[in-house]
Amino acid sequence: MTTTVRRATRPRVEARVDLDALAHNVGLLAGLARGSGAATMAVVKADGYGHGAVDVARTALASGATWLGVCTLEEAAELRAAGIRAPVLSWLHLPDEDFAPAVADEVDLGVSSRAELEGVVAGAGRAGRPARVHLKIDTGLSRNGCPPEAWGDLLDAVEAARLAGDVEVAAVWSHLAHADAPAHPTIDVQATRLDGAWRTAAERLGGPRPWRHLANSAATLTRPDLHLDLVRPGIAVYGLDPLDAPDGHGLRPVMTFRTHVALVKRIAAGEGVSYGHEWVAPDDRVLALVPTGYADGVPRRLGGMMTVQLAGRRRPVVGRVCMDQVVVDLGPAAGDVPPVAPGDEVVLFGAGDAGEPTAAEWARWLDTIHYEVVTGVGCRPRVTRTTAGTSP
Ligand SMILES: *Cc1c(COP(=O)(O)O)cnc(C)c1O
Repeated sequence: MTTTVRRATRPRVEARVDLDALAHNVGLLAGLARGSGAATMAVVKADGYGHGAVDVARTALASGATWLGVCTLEEAAELRAAGIRAPVLSWLHLPDEDFAPAVADEVDLGVSSRAELEGVVAGAGRAGRPARVHLKIDTGLSRNGCPPEAWGDLLDAVEAARLAGDVEVAAVWSHLAHADAPAHPTIDVQATRLDGAWRTAAERLGGPRPWRHLANSAATLTRPDLHLDLVRPGIAVYGLDPLDAPDGHGLRPVMTFRTHVALVKRIAAGEGVSYGHEWVAPDDRVLALVPTGYADGVPRRLGGMMTVQLAGRRRPVVGRVCMDQVVVDLGPAAGDVPPVAPGDEVVLFGAGDAGEPTAAEWARWLDTIHYEVVTGVGCRPRVTRTTAGTSP
C-alpha cells in the first residue's frame, strides 16, 4: 500500500459540502420569496439534511435567508451555542420537554396542542420572559398540527397565556401534503384552511397580527401565491429539486460523497466476488477495492445496481455491498484496463457535472427520495464532512 501520506491528509470517506453552491441556492430561493414580499427560513433540521447545520446556517444567513428552521430543541440549541442569533423556529416537541432554555435563548416554538402550550408556558415562567409561538394548524397532512376541531380551544388557552404575558403569537402556520405536485387539488384546500384558521386567530387573539407560513421547497419553487409571509425551503437549499425538473430549477447539488481506491487486483475467470459470490468473473478481470460500505451509508441493496465515477467514467460495483467495502469492475484483464491506482478518487455521488451519479440517481436506484440519501450518508460517524467554498 502506498497511500500512507494521502491517508494523513485526506479523509477515508468524505461528504464534501460546497458552500458556494449552497449560497447560490439560498440566493435563488430568497429571490423568489422576496418577489412575493416573503422572508426566507432555511430549514437546517437533521444536521442540515446531513450537510452540517452550523455551516449551512451561517452560509444561508449570509445569502438571503433571515430565519432558520429546525425540528428539535436540541437542534435549536446547537445553533445558539455556535453563536447564531438569527430567528430560529423549532417545531416538534413533547409536552414534558423543558422549554425554559429555548425560551431564554429566544427560540420560536411551534405549538400544536394545549399540552404543548402548557409546557411552553411553564418554560416561559422559568425563563422569566414570554415565549414566541407559531400556532400550527393541521390543514390536511394529519401529522403534526392542531386538528381544526380543537383550534378554538387552543386559541382560548393561547389568549389566556398571552394576556398573562407568557406567550407572544408570531405566526399561524401549516405544512403541505402534496407540494411536489403543484397542481394537486389538496394544495388549495390546505391553503384555504390555513387562511380560515389564521382569520379566526386574528379575531380571537389580541396583539399584533400574526404571520402566515405554509411553503416548503416545492411550493417556494412553484407556488408564489403560497409564499405568504415566510417560506420554509429545506431540500432545495441543498441543491436537490423536489420536483425533479429537467433543469433542476437552477439549483446546484451541495454534497459530494467520495472516497479513494484502496487496492487494485486481478482475478481469474470463474472467481466469485464478495459475500455470496453474486458476481462471478466471466473472464480474467481487473478490480478496484473501494473502502466504503453500508456502515458509511452505501445501502446494501445497491449491490449489483450502482455505478461509481472512477478514472473518468462510470464503472459498476460488482457483488454485494459489505459493511466497509465494495468492489468495482475495471474490465477484462485482456482489454483496455484504465490506469487506476490506489489513492485514486472514487465519486459515489455528486453534482453530476462530471458524469458522476447524483443523489437523485441514488434515490431512483433505491426507490426512495434524495432527502433520505443525503441524510443517510452525511451523518455517519465514519464519514468525514469537509467544506469547500467560502464559509462566512
Ligand atoms: C422539513 C420541513 C420543511 C422543509 O421541507 P422541504 O421539502 O425539505 O423543503 C418545511 N416545513 C416543515 C414543517 C418541515 O418539517
